[in-house]
Amino acid sequence: MVQRTFSIVKPDAVRKGFTAAILAEVEKAGFKLVSIKRMSLSKAQAEGFYYVHAERGFFDELTTFMSSGPIFPMVLEKENAIADLRKLMGATDPAKAEEGTLRKMFASSIGENAVHGSDAEDTAAFEIGYFFAGLELK
Ligand code: GDP
Repeated sequence: MVQRTFSIVKPDAVRKGFTAAILAEVEKAGFKLVSIKRMSLSKAQAEGFYYVHAERGFFDELTTFMSSGPIFPMVLEKENAIADLRKLMGATDPAKAEEGTLRKMFASSIGENAVHGSDAEDTAAFEIGYFFAGLELK
């Protein structure tokens, strides 16, 4: 089933100049880039995006980091996009990520881990709608 998922090149990867390299890996893995833009999040906007983690101990660190500089949110499309992007990203902690995964290649810590990818259909729908209007997704 052709499916859409949502991804972000996070502020650490943008700062290090890894955006184009990450996009190249994503395209090499067969994803179609449906929409992408460069923007910065306010702390409140980052908190809204990560509301499911509000009770976690790292919530303040996470939302401060995600609002610390420009990001590239994007919508990606392919067969099994959600699961396949999670595979391509690798484990949350880059120290545990497999060779060839984006986090192994581009991330430096469990917090500053280069990329985001939706983990299920309902979260993908919420996350795409949080960042993109219908007219940006043709
Ligand atoms: P993901 O689905 O692999 O991105 O991981 P989670 O949904 O568990 O966590 C969301 C994001 O919160 C991760 O991608 C990290 O950026 C951040 N995060 C997770 N665990 C930690 C942690 O222990 N410390 C910090 N600072 N950030 C974390």
